[in-house]
Amino acid sequence: MKKRIALLPGDGIGPEVLEAAVDVLKSVAEHYQHEFEFEYGLIGGSAIDEAGVPLPEETVAVCKAADAILLGAVGGPKWDQHPSELRPEKGLLAIRKQLDLFANLRPVKVFESLADASPLKKEYVEGVDFVIVRELTGGLYFGKPSEQYVNQDGEQAAVDTLFYKKTEMERVIREAFRMAKGRTGKVTSVDKANVLESSKLWRKTAEEAAGEFPDVKLEHMLVDNAAMQLIYAPRQFDIVVTENMFGDILSDEASMLTGSLGMLPSASLSSSGLHLYEPVHGSAPDIAGQNIANPLAAILSAAMMLRTSFGLEAEAKAVEHAVDQVLQSGKRTKDLAKGSEHCTTQSITEEVKAALADDNAISNIMTAYV
Ligand code: NAD
Repeated sequence: MKKRIALLPGDGIGPEVLEAAVDVLKSVAEHYQHEFEFEYGLIGGSAIDEAGVPLPEETVAVCKAADAILLGAVGGPKWDQHPSELRPEKGLLAIRKQLDLFANLRPVKVFESLADASPLKKEYVEGVDFVIVRELTGGLYFGKPSEQYVNQDGEQAAVDTLFYKKTEMERVIREAFRMAKGRTGKVTSVDKANVLESSKLWRKTAEEAAGEFPDVKLEHMLVDNAAMQLIYAPRQFDIVVTENMFGDILSDEASMLTGSLGMLPSASLSSSGLHLYEPVHGSAPDIAGQNIANPLAAILSAAMMLRTSFGLEAEAKAVEHAVDQVLQSGKRTKDLAKGSEHCTTQSITEEVKAALADDNAISNIMTAYV
């Protein structure tokens, strides 16, 4: 299979973890006889430095010419004082909007070997396996902010608007129901319908969608309760669907069930079929350039790409299995090592590639004997 992949490294640890994912993809191509063509594009702070804008048109063109997009992370203190239209995060928001990436899937799966890496007790996190489906193109992050708002009484103030169209809600909620059909058949819709008008419409929309999926059970949960339940009883969840900002916050919270933000992959789906894959974490400026970032979220994002965009289920499973093997062997990057000796970004990537090669060798031997 021949596929073209757009690579957007971004800032901070973005380029480090993306290179790790590319390295693993090259191994997959070699072992399974695929051809992956990689083309790079600028985004975020590095794009501001080199091209003057957080999302240059050439980057959008590179993405549109590709079969899938893999992104590192954007942002950093260097650009913190820039005006809001020249912030690295604007590049990310713009690519989501321009490619209409409306559904962000964030699987939260606790690897058995990492159950003791979570700050929560092992018995609470063992077996956790759910997906947060976050709406990505509407809500507060795309409202009209007013930086210089002055209240009637003359006091300085600020305002953001939370705007959602029903169609934006419908498409992401339906996506969540479709996913639930292939799993345990339960959707938890998270809102703040006791206070917010947009949440009341969200809840009504979820009820209507439920009518189209009679074999899926729908429950509603207020976002404050959901934040508590994620820690108290995380195994109750299967598919969690929610609006943009609630999803952003809840998924960072949920990452700690897995032990580290460096473990969480994500996929952002568009209706055109051109999807974007990225680790959930940010650019981690505090550890950038030190070769200590955990690349597993980026590598697992590449596995999601193999499965979702290219239909390469066996290859995706092989990568996930290789990550699992490495963790089971006790190898950890610094974020998970709890003070004991740790692997570097590059060395754990080499471990994943070696596990992939071993798996491949075993399956070749098995095929030869069948
Ligand atoms: P962050 O996710 O970058 O880091 C939070 C903490 O987790 C840090 O201590 C960091 O060292 C650690 N961490 C994150 N990823 C890690 C990894 N792979 N391995 C080991 N440790 C890891 O969040 P932040 O510090 O709030 O934000 C830093 C910058 O990233 C900001 O500019 C923010 O706007 C940006 N950001 C970007 C994205 C994105 O590109 N999708 C997402 C979130 C934040």
